[in-house]
Amino acid sequence: MNLLLLFMIIKVENLPVPEVTCSNCQACCCHLEVIIISETGVPRQHIYVDEHGSETMLRLDDGWCSALNRDTLMCSIYESRPWVCREFEMGSYECITERKDKA
Ligand code: SF4
Ligand code: SF4
Repeated sequence: MNLLLLFMIIKVENLPVPEVTCSNCQACCCHLEVIIISETGVPRQHIYVDEHGSETMLRLDDGWCSALNRDTLMCSIYESRPWVCREFEMGSYECITERKDKA
């Protein structure tokens, strides 16, 4: 018996585009190297100082910044986060690139 399979191609338009928001993100940008270039009150235990004295946010073995709350995926030092973190814009090209890289 011949079995005839019919395939229909249906053009689907206006599929919902996932919203880019920190609440549906795995804190992707908190894997990046964050250079500390101004004094915002970052607690010392979250700062890595290299052999030249340059300061960056300490990252732990899982790759995330040590100041990230692993349970909530929110910044635990939000009020004193570095300038770089303040300038990193949700929905920006850099943000979307990080999300894609970590997907
Ligand atoms: S700024 Fe972008 S990459 Fe960073 S946590 Fe928010 S959505 Fe994710
Ligand atoms: S300081 Fe806060 S916002 Fe900046 S990388 Fe660390 S956890 Fe993320």
